[in-house]
Amino acid sequence: MAPQREWFEKDYYRVLGVGETATAKEIKSAYRKLSRQYHPDTNSGDKAAEERFKEVSAAYDVVGDAEKRKEYDEVRKLGPVGGMFGGGGSGAPGGGFRFQGGDIGDVLGGLFGRPRRGGGASGPGRGTGPHRGQDLEAELHLDFEDAVRGLTTTIHLTSEAACSTCMGTGAKPGTAPRTCVQCNGRGVLDDNQGFFSFSQPCPACAGRGYTIDDPCPTCGGSGIEHRPREVKVRIPAGVADGQRIRLRGRGGPGRNGGPPGDLYVTTRVTPHRLFGRRGDDLTLTVPVTFPEAVLGADVRVPTLDGTSVKVRIPAGTRSGRTLRVKGKGVPKSRKTGDMLVTVEVAVPQKLTDDERKAVEALAAANDGRSPRAHLGIEEG
Ligand SMILES: [Zn+2]
Ligand SMILES: [Zn+2]
Repeated sequence: MAPQREWFEKDYYRVLGVGETATAKEIKSAYRKLSRQYHPDTNSGDKAAEERFKEVSAAYDVVGDAEKRKEYDEVRKLGPVGGMFGGGGSGAPGGGFRFQGGDIGDVLGGLFGRPRRGGGASGPGRGTGPHRGQDLEAELHLDFEDAVRGLTTTIHLTSEAACSTCMGTGAKPGTAPRTCVQCNGRGVLDDNQGFFSFSQPCPACAGRGYTIDDPCPTCGGSGIEHRPREVKVRIPAGVADGQRIRLRGRGGPGRNGGPPGDLYVTTRVTPHRLFGRRGDDLTLTVPVTFPEAVLGADVRVPTLDGTSVKVRIPAGTRSGRTLRVKGKGVPKSRKTGDMLVTVEVAVPQKLTDDERKAVEALAAANDGRSPRAHLGIEEG
């Protein structure tokens, strides 16, 4: 036997007055006792007793059978329904739960071993009520400068899109879809079962809310076509390499009146010849000569916008020291980043005779003042 809808509503353990973890033997003995107590033979004419007897029998029919009990326990574990059993027969305020279209259809369909509704004529995945469109992924290759400044560009992708022949209606051009008379365009039919109210996808229109007499020849009535698409995107200033940007509603079209999916764009930023990025700050390495580092100097460094700025190298700057140039980083609406200039003392590989003499003179003048004195090793 397949699970039944009333399994959602009835607490068979409570009916039999046993706990959920009761053994088969405990269930059997509880059933024996209650069925004897309410048996029609001993309660002739007592309507309430008759009802009780039926309830007890129905309960034992399920939880008295190991196989069915397992399935019943599964049903009870289902999220939205599970909560109601604790409250028992007192009933939920407002008269129960309501399930919407496709979801409960899927739950019940899966549980009850039925094929999903609407699988036939209207094609796979269709006709189970409104479906959100697919989420799509795309990559966008950006120049370093464009990533810093932001830009508006066009992404080309091939995906599902509203059919261009019928504009997504699914109806042959010149004809129009008709509102479904069965469900009045709602796409669902209500099926009241006492405590529960189920919304079922309308079988007449397969949950779409409308019917099509003459299907569009391009898309066969689905309203959806697989074709190249262009999506205009606005990339904000300051995106980083590998960032995933969500464009709401720019993914695949929804089905049966469902909303479209989202488009996720992952940015691939080409590295810059000179500049790097650290968050909203730009980084730049600037070589200086030994005399510039020792004596201090003003040096001009490039900025990303093509101009240059003067940076003061203080006297006694160590190689590797980073100087901050305010406001020359990634422009952001809130706060523009800085440019971080890292000083690198250049060591010449070739010296002129004059330079060699000067460096040797420096070495001679340095005599006895080793920078390694603190290491405590005698040098000789
Ligand atoms: Zn309908
Ligand atoms: Zn079409």
